[in-house]
This record gives sequence, C-alpha cells and structure tokens, in this order.
Amino acid sequence: MSVKSDVVVIGGGVIGSSIALQLASDGLTVTVVERDSIGNGASGFALGLINPTNETGNIESLNHESYLMHRDQLERIQDESGVDAQVRTKPHLELALTEEDLPELRAEVDRINRFDAFYSEWLPPTDVAKAEPRITEQNFGGVLVENVFILDSYNYTLAVAQAAEKRGVNFVTSTVRDLSWNKSAISKVVTDQEEYDCGSVVFAMGPWTGTAGVWLDVDIPIVPQKGEIVRIAGFDKPLNHHIHGFHLNSSCSVVQKRRRPDLACSHQTGRYRVRHSPLCGSAGVVNPAWIEDDSCARGARGRVANRLPQTCFTGR
Ligand SMILES: Cc1cc2nc3c(=O)[nH]c(=O)nc-3n(C[C@H](O)[C@H](O)[C@H](O)COP(=O)(O)OP(=O)(O)OC[C@H]3O[C@@H](n4cnc5c(N)ncnc54)[C@H](O)[C@@H]3O)c2cc1C
Repeated sequence: MSVKSDVVVIGGGVIGSSIALQLASDGLTVTVVERDSIGNGASGFALGLINPTNETGNIESLNHESYLMHRDQLERIQDESGVDAQVRTKPHLELALTEEDLPELRAEVDRINRFDAFYSEWLPPTDVAKAEPRITEQNFGGVLVENVFILDSYNYTLAVAQAAEKRGVNFVTSTVRDLSWNKSAISKVVTDQEEYDCGSVVFAMGPWTGTAGVWLDVDIPIVPQKGEIVRIAGFDKPLNHHIHGFHLNSSCSVVQKRRRPDLACSHQTGRYRVRHSPLCGSAGVVNPAWIEDDSCARGARGRVANRLPQTCFTGR
C-alpha cells in the first residue's frame, strides 16, 4: 500500500519535527518517518543550550537568526503541545583555562556585542571568582554572555512533535531503506514496511544524514561526533551560570538543570572512532566524586579521575 503526502520528512529529531510543524502550518500534508522514537537521536541527548554565540564565520548570522526564531516560538510550541520544555535563562561563562585562550576569547566580547539581543563583558579572574567561587583560581578570566537559555532537549523535541501532530502531521515508525525515482524526481520513500508517495523529501537524519548519500549517489559529508553527558549530584548551591571551557582538547560544559547539574563533553574524533573518552577532558570542570552513582556513571567517574588533580571546580 502506498501513502501520499506533499512532503515526507525522514527523521523525527528536533530538525525534522520543526520542519514538519512549519510545513503543516503552511497547509501542506506531511509524513515524518522515524526509525526509532521521537527525539531518540541527538535531539533527546543534547545539553539543551540555545547559545547564539558559539558559531562564527559564514553561519554566524544563521545561528543568530535561528536563536531568535527559537526564542519567539518557544512559548507557542509549549502552549500548543502542553509539554513543558523546562526553559531557563542564565548567563553563560566561557572560561579561559590557559593563557593561550586569552586573545581569542577577549575578541569574543566585541563580536557578541554586535548582536542587539546580547550583552557580553570580559571578567578578570577576580570577577570570575565573585560570579562563581567554586571555579578554580587557576583561570585567566572569562567571557560573560547574558540571555543564553537552556531547555530540556528531549521535552522540547516532544513538544515540537506534538504541536506538529496537532496540526495534522502523520508520524510513522519505520526505517527508510531507499528512494524511488520518477525520471529525475524522487517519487517515493521506501521503508521496511511501506512506500510513501511524495512531492518532496526532507532529509533530517541528523548525524546519520550521510546515509542518504548512498540513495542519492552523492557524497554528503556529515559524520557523527561523539559526545557524552553525565548527571552529577546536586550542588549544595545551584549553579547560576552555564560554564564552558576547552580542556585537554575537549569541549566541556557544566549546566544546572532543574534538579541537578549536567556535565557534557564532546570530543571531535570522526566516524564513531573514539580513541579516548571525551570525559577525560572533564577533569577540568568537575570533581569525579560528584558524578551520580549509577552503572554508567561509574565508568565516567573513573575516566574523569584519571585526569585529576587538574580540577577547575574547587568545592561544592
Ligand atoms: C552530548 C550532546 C550535547 C549537545 N548539546 C547541544 C547544545 O547544548 N545545544 C545545541 O544547540 N545542540 C547541542 N547538541 C547538538 C544537537 O543535539 C543536534 O544538533 C540536534 O539534536 C540535531 O537534530 P536532528 O533532528 O538533526 O538530529 P537527530 O535528533 O539525531 O534526529 C535524526 C533522526 O533521524 C532518524 N533516522 C536516521 N536514519 C533514519 C532512517 N534511515 N529512517 C528513519 N529515521 C532515521 C534517527 O533515528 C533520529 O531520530 C548536542 C548533541 C549531543 C550529542
């Protein structure tokens, strides 16, 4: 049996669901094909920082525009779906953990202040200590950025998908295996259960979008990167900033979620090959003893411990 839609979106992450919501709001019929469950890819595991400042070069303005669009539609999406995305606004602190970080980070203040929606200033180490006394004294200062917000990325993806469903988007669980062509146009999306007739296809397969290159016979240079998030036991006093730094070649963040802080690390290693865990780098950010005790966390704690005593946090 074949099902007909104006557009078939492959992938039910935040990108596929947002595109589906927009297309349905514009009056098109849309089917989203997701092989797993909604938000079960990168979108359900992201740290959830909506930070307009962390991309430069050609996509800097796109990043900023995207932030504004997120901000403007957050309330409507939560209202329409009835899902609480747990949005909070907090200042972001980008730490200079080595002297070499200084020139680049200091230049960030002017770059960020060029955007109307943001305010940034340089904090010397004494002011970093005032802002968050648990950060190590061995920092070289940091960039403070106001108005960055954070949400629960899984809840947010669900909210977008449910708002899309309410506007008539059809979500199906199936794995796309191939495409059918009518002359030079894609006419069907072929899954392991059904075929979906379509006018257009959107490839929103996130880190796995490279697979579509096989169906299209083009090289799509998208490769997954490895990242990890561990939940750490609640600090006595909640963190009032998002904290980020590059430490031992890893990007490390500590973020206070509603009930407990999350520690996230990403390390760029290309095609699934992770030579060492990104969490090795997190020793710069937290003490391993704070990682919540579950089976997954035990390994993480060991990896963080390997790099002590270079802790950037000094106490709870
Ligand atoms: C640890 C970590 C922390 C992050 N932190 C942040 C952050 O703080 N801020 C931020 O902005 N971004 C962050 N990101 C990045 C963010 O998560 C991604 O950019 C975003 O979620 C990508 O959304 P997506 O919809 O493109 O991909 P995904 O959410 O991965 O969705 C793609 C979907 O496609 C499906 N799919 C793939 N192949 C097929 C197929 N053949 N058939 C059917 N379905 C298929 C998958 O199952 C998946 O659900 C983080 C990512 C990670 C991993």
